[in-house]
Amino acid sequence: MSYYKIENLEQYFKHYKKSVREPRKFWGKIAEENFVWYQVWDKVFEFDMEESKFQWFVNGKLNIVKNCIDRHLAKRGEKPAILFEPNNPEEQSETITYNDLYNRVCKMANVLKEQGVKKGDRVCIYLPMIPELAISMLACARIGAIHSVIFAGFSSSAVSKRINDAECKFVITSDGSYRGSKTIPLKPIIDEALESCPGVEKVLLVKRTGAEIAFKEGRDMWLAPLLEEASINHVAQVMDAEDPLFILYTSGSTGSPKGMVHTTAGYMVQTAYSFKNIFDYKDEDIFWCTADCGWITGHSYIIYGPLLNGATTVMFEGVPSYPTPSRFWDIIDKYKVTQFYTAPTAIRSLMTEDYSYVNSHDLSSLRVIGSVGEPINEEAWHWYNDHVGKKRCPIVDTWWQTETGSILVSPLPFITPTKPTYATLPLPGIQAVLMDEKRNEIEDNQVDGSLCIKFPWPSMARTIWGDHERYKETYFSKFPGKYFTGDGALRDEVGYYRITGRADDVVIVSGHNLGTAPIEDAINEHPAVAESAVVGYKHDIKGNALYGFITLKVEGETRDRENLTREINQYISSHIGPIAKLDKIQFVESLPKTRSGKIMRRILRSISNGETKEFGDVSTLINPEVIQKIIDSKK
Ligand code: ATP
Ligand code: MG
Repeated sequence: MSYYKIENLEQYFKHYKKSVREPRKFWGKIAEENFVWYQVWDKVFEFDMEESKFQWFVNGKLNIVKNCIDRHLAKRGEKPAILFEPNNPEEQSETITYNDLYNRVCKMANVLKEQGVKKGDRVCIYLPMIPELAISMLACARIGAIHSVIFAGFSSSAVSKRINDAECKFVITSDGSYRGSKTIPLKPIIDEALESCPGVEKVLLVKRTGAEIAFKEGRDMWLAPLLEEASINHVAQVMDAEDPLFILYTSGSTGSPKGMVHTTAGYMVQTAYSFKNIFDYKDEDIFWCTADCGWITGHSYIIYGPLLNGATTVMFEGVPSYPTPSRFWDIIDKYKVTQFYTAPTAIRSLMTEDYSYVNSHDLSSLRVIGSVGEPINEEAWHWYNDHVGKKRCPIVDTWWQTETGSILVSPLPFITPTKPTYATLPLPGIQAVLMDEKRNEIEDNQVDGSLCIKFPWPSMARTIWGDHERYKETYFSKFPGKYFTGDGALRDEVGYYRITGRADDVVIVSGHNLGTAPIEDAINEHPAVAESAVVGYKHDIKGNALYGFITLKVEGETRDRENLTREINQYISSHIGPIAKLDKIQFVESLPKTRSGKIMRRILRSISNGETKEFGDVSTLINPEVIQKIIDSKK
């Protein structure tokens, strides 16, 4: 019996039980049957709970890129691996077959080697969403260098912080990038960042925009001529199962970003397995995840998960609104995309556009649609279901984190009945539990608590780069022996999980625990509301009270604010109960968001409490200017 693909609900429960009772057999069999190894492991896992040290496939030897590319060549050499869609739809798109990808990755691997990159070295990749980004990641993995991709929208100070934290010696970047109607110079940002990064020896440059750039002799080098000269023969480096594959910083929604370290074998096995099942991947599918490779979603579900399965993955350079708000739908139609995976923030913004944009397109190729990054509110879920999935395509609301490496809780399409706002059931191998305030495991259903995972899983991050103490403290100290996710969740009567928000954001009002997501969900049901963020603030009588920051759809702008406030509270009363009513509502132009598109509630919490001087690390904010606007418009 194979455990790689779950075919029906009965089998899901069977595999789940197996994974709990015999995790060695379960993961061992998946790893053995679906990947190529230079040498098989001695033990499927070994843990030191005291030290929070986890090893999977101990002493196994492999190369993940051999699994992503080389082994597919005989059967799928001419199959498209990457379909590159440029920012400007007028520009030629590009089809990169598995054969092409092999050649380009080998050439890049040879260039990196010639430039002195060695196994274990950290390479910072600061590139737009162009093929060279994927190729650089894979080339690093092929030679055993550790990639640290930094989203190419970060400022120079955010970049230098991350480069220094990971002690990168090499940087791969480009002259500039295209994003919608804008051309953004990237090289000047790197130049400025490197003024405070003495450890960086070489900068390799991709030509994208053709912008004039400053060139530092001895340090900077154009990649194209080096690639031209490079050989296409490269033998993939033998890596240990636990050799680091990459470092990736979390979004920084709740504090300063953490440089999560992912290792090779466990990450490979679980991203491949989760991709196959959660997207019901079949051989001829065209998979499109709209994330950027600067985030974990891009690592696991644009690059590694799809390529490990020999899939065709779409890589999109641009933004959903350019040249028109039908860009996503144009691309789905153009490539006949079968699985579409995006974020609630994109859905909420596209929902405010005229529905004719989406409804005038042929989306009949779609089979599965997915969401990730934040809780998806009910209104957005229905819009996605009705207008994009046409009530035919199951929505996979996938819950996971940079730390988890792959999706841990999600419906399986055509297998798990979906329920709006619920990420539903944990995947096999994932022992999700809810913990109460007294740190006891909650056995009952229809309760909420802190979401923890009580048994390690292969793709979990192994440490925070250079700070194992912070890793232990953040994830394993609050509930000893368990991984604490930092998220709050509710479990319904059948055992489905709904993420209710960050555990830190849970507000206790008059003795009741309130998660922010269900309240925001009720607010967003109001037809005039575009987005909302709820936080708790100190209240003389109640101890805590609720403060809502709300943005309106255009047509709502002219409406009387007092009426709106009253109506919104009525929505909350009828959806949740009067206890969750907001004491204060502030209508704002926009909400502070991370560059990955998440609402940064901790800033709003400070503002609601009148703390407007110090906001901590805001380098991950995409729109820092809104902070002052919100403070100024606060009454
Ligand atoms: P930081 O850890 O630095 O504060 P972050 O948590 O935003 O940043 P990520 O690892 O990118 O960084 O995001 C993971 C978080 O995103 C989860 O802990 C959860 O709060 C939220 N999330 C992701 N997917 C979902 C989902 N499907 N439903 C609800 N929340 C989700
Ligand atoms: Mg987090």
